Amino acid sequence: MEPISGSCLCKGVQYCIPSKTSQWLRCHCSMCRKAIGAEHCTYFAVPVAKVEFKSKDTLKTFRSSEDAERSFCSNCGCSICMKYGVEKNTIWFNAATLDVKVPVVDPHQIFTKDKFEYLDVMAQSHGTPDISAWVVDSAKSLA
Ligand SMILES: [Zn+2]
Ligand SMILES: [Zn+2]
Repeated sequence: MEPISGSCLCKGVQYCIPSKTSQWLRCHCSMCRKAIGAEHCTYFAVPVAKVEFKSKDTLKTFRSSEDAERSFCSNCGCSICMKYGVEKNTIWFNAATLDVKVPVVDPHQIFTKDKFEYLDVMAQSHGTPDISAWVVDSAKSLA
């Protein structure tokens, strides 16, 4: 089977992983939210030894706590992956960086007690298929 590929927005970081992933995890903790810049982050686990970076010149690593390191593209800011100190052999990749569709395996959510308060409200809001029908000057509504 073909390996799975992923990348950051500017393509400075590109990775390949095996055709199968293991556990998928959605984390709602405040550290992941700030690291990702989104209301939660979805990760999947890959054995360290199976990860191949095709390009990583802009990959930087930040120790966000005693327990975790987070790697991101220093050019475009995209959060790529994280590693827990207690899991020496596992990298958790940010699922939003995948370039191909991958089946979700064994999904689980953690830190649901910290769930972003606007998540449910936004999930129930109406949407448009692209930006064309959306308000052009949003700040006008505040004037
Ligand atoms: Zn980048
Ligand atoms: Zn988290």
